[in-house]
Amino acid sequence: MSDERKKRLAEERRAALEYLALKALAGKKNVIAALYDYLVENASPSQAAKAHGIQKTQLKSTAYQLLSKARAPLVAKLLKLAYPYLMEVEPLVEDNYCKACQTIIHTNHAEPHIAVKHQDIIKKTAMEIEEKIKQEILRRKKLAAGVRSA
Ligand SMILES: [Zn+2]
Repeated sequence: MSDERKKRLAEERRAALEYLALKALAGKKNVIAALYDYLVENASPSQAAKAHGIQKTQLKSTAYQLLSKARAPLVAKLLKLAYPYLMEVEPLVEDNYCKACQTIIHTNHAEPHIAVKHQDIIKKTAMEIEEKIKQEILRRKKLAAGVRSA
């Protein structure tokens, strides 16, 4: 793989993970779960949306935004790998309160608030998830190598 292509893929991966990290920090785990059903499990958008109690149009626009960050096969692969870690992310805004700036933020406004005020936390969360994915891939490779040599 050329350096140029590697760099582009790394940028796409980071952009997609930051978008997913923002959703997780905003407490939108149901949206992430619906995205998973739709983009990883290939459920229909209406099935996926209904299963997680969101609107089909919301799921489609979120998927569209996510797919504008990185190409579709990469998004599906990342979402599959990142899913358990995204679900572990502690929401930044809960009960109308932002834990980072310790001010009252309506939970409905959590996502734009975090996107504007807490880019550093989004980046940090995405980087941590990326690191966990790398560790997991390494673990699987070692496991596979162990199986082959046995
Ligand atoms: Zn805040």
